Order: sequence, then structure tokens, then C-alpha cells
Amino acid sequence: MIYLDANATTPLDPAVLEAMLPFLRENQANPSSSYSTGRQARRAVEAARDAVAALAGAEAREVVFTSCATESINTVHESVWHLWPEKPLLITTAAEHAAGLECARRWQRRGGSVHHLKTGQSGLIDLAELEAALKSAPAALVSVLWANNETGVIQPMREITALAHAHGALVHADAVQMIGKARLDAETDFLSLSGHKFHAPKGIGALVVNRHVRFEPLMLGGGQESGRRSGTENVPGIAGLGKAAELAMKPCGSELRDVFERGIRAQWPEVVIHGQNAPRLPTTSSICMPGIDAAGMLILLDQAGVACSAGSACHTAALHPSHVLEAMGYDAAHAGSTLRFSFSRLNTMEEAIRAVEIVLQAAQKLRLLAGADSSLVVCA
Ligand code: PLP
Repeated sequence: MIYLDANATTPLDPAVLEAMLPFLRENQANPSSSYSTGRQARRAVEAARDAVAALAGAEAREVVFTSCATESINTVHESVWHLWPEKPLLITTAAEHAAGLECARRWQRRGGSVHHLKTGQSGLIDLAELEAALKSAPAALVSVLWANNETGVIQPMREITALAHAHGALVHADAVQMIGKARLDAETDFLSLSGHKFHAPKGIGALVVNRHVRFEPLMLGGGQESGRRSGTENVPGIAGLGKAAELAMKPCGSELRDVFERGIRAQWPEVVIHGQNAPRLPTTSSICMPGIDAAGMLILLDQAGVACSAGSACHTAALHPSHVLEAMGYDAAHAGSTLRFSFSRLNTMEEAIRAVEIVLQAAQKLRLLAGADSSLVVCA
């Protein structure tokens, strides 16, 4: 199987597994215990905190381990909501991950106001719209998906942060897709990440909280993580996250993605590569293949040994298309012909080259099949 779905999850790096094994096999102590194995577990947790802090350009005391980015994102929204007097304004984008979108919905349900910034066909927000929204009412939080999980488009986080801070708003970056792929070159107040998107296991994430920002924990209990996230620490997961953070210090290059895109485009010039004129992740390729049903392609590609995902919800039998492509101004037919291929540093050039052949063959086969049975092309 050629695995090209790294934006969904990444394979565990063998070095990460090695870092975890001692805390699954020999030492299962609670890091709050005072005996030697407990102290050893504590040292592993703190070493991992140092590694995540170095990756995020933060201080170790600003790193809070969580179970995943969804928890981190929820924690930020809840903290800001509860600490802000009156019903505050949240500024976010129309192209957030579901975790951000749902937190914004809850914000609205509680009576807060939400401004969803539009993304143009480039996938980028308009900084002038952000500035106008910041001037329209006092905003508590600007929460932005730094690199989009569907298209890979990277938002100008440094400029967003400067504008938000100039208007007294806090900034949260969903940096889940940035880690190991692009430099984190902005100093936001909150930053969310998830281990399984950069070769650590599932079930471990982190929230980086600027030390000067007031913070209200979501999880109350035993006071772990300096009272900011109670619950006995997931020591193997944290040790793995630390190792993965060390390995992610050197971001991936775009060689495989470029070879893949060039190969497809050379044979099929009509394809549309989303966000290609914007800064985007070096590993994500969101491609609309005109006339092709993404759901059918997924099945054929799976059979031919390529794992990728649809850029639209068509494949899940949901009737609505990708909200990300919709926000970029594309219609349902376009979204229904879109596939996302996402590489990681564990892919090889041979895989990228072979994937081009397989994708082109599958598209050809789908066209022939559609000629015989048009029900396959439902979104074209
Ligand atoms: N944010 C982005 C951009 C994502 O891609 C994901 C996962 O798909 C998440 C947040 C949520 O991560 P998790 O499911 O690990 O909580």
C-alpha cells in the first residue's frame, strides 16, 4: 500500500516506538510517584516537554500535554469564553477543522458573536477583512487554522497575530498540520498540536499556552500539568511525542509532492491544484480531476494500492461537499471530483512516481466504467 493520507494520520516512526517502549514494558510508574521509577517517568515527561517547547519556540512551562488537538482546541475556547467578561466576539475562518467549527457553534449558541473570515479562491483569508472585524467590536479570540488539512494552504499567522494583538485579542493557532512540514514563525497565545499527525501515536497532543495569558483549565482533578490539565499523564504517549517533536525539527521538503503533481498535470493539464498560488504545505496535494467521481476513485485507488482521501464529503455518503472548497468558491461538482494526497517524510520517491501511474490508470478506468455505468459518476 502506498500511503498518501498523512494529513489524516501518520505511521508511527520506529524511533518514536523505541522511545515509548520502556514506559509500556519496564516502567509503568505514575510520574507523580516519589520512588525511583516514578521519578524516571517524570524525567521522561519533562524531557518531552523540553522537546515540544523547542519545536514550538516556547518555554517548557508553556507546554501542556493533552489527549489530542481536539481537546487542546476545546480547552482554548472554553478558557477564553469563561475568563472574558460579557459575551465576547470570536473571529475565526470558514475553513476550520471540525473541532474549531464546532467550538465556534457552541460560542454562538451561548450568545457570543462569531465572525467567520472568508477565504478567497487562493484559500487565504483577507487581512483587511480581519482588521475590519477587529475594529467592529472588541474581540476576545482570533482562532485560525494555520495550515488547512484539505488544501495545505498556510495562513499568514504572523500578520494575523500582529493585527489581533494590536486590537487586544488573543490568538489561537491550530498548528496540527504545520508540525514537521513548515516553520512555526509566529508567536501566538495558544497553539494546538496532535501527535499522530507527525509520527507519534494517537491519543497524545499538546496545547502551548503563553505564560502571560490567563488560563482556565478544562479538566479539573488531581492538578497534573501544573493544574492546567488534570489526569494522570500518558507517559508512553508523551515520551513518543517528545521523540516525534525532536524528529520534526527538520521540516519535510516538497520533492515528492512536486513530482507527483507534475506527473499528473503532464498527462492531464485540466486538473486544478487547490491553493497552488498561495503558500502551502510541501506535502499536501488537493486536486480536482474534472469529470471524475472522487468516491469511485477512492475505491479504485484502494484496490490498486494507494490510500488517499476525498477532498469532499461525497465519499462518506454525506450530501454536502467540502466546506473548505465551498469557502474557496468552488461548487459541489468540483468538490465531488477532488482528491487529497498527503505525503510524509516516510514516503519515498518511488512511491510518488508509482502513485502517478496508478492515479492516471484509475482515472482512465473510471472513465471507461462510467461509459458503461454512468451511476459511478455522481458528482461530475
Ligand atoms: N486540526 C486539524 C487541522 C486536523 O487536521 C485535525 C485532525 O484531523 C485536528 C485538528 C484534530 O486532531 P485530533 O483528531 O487528533 O484531535
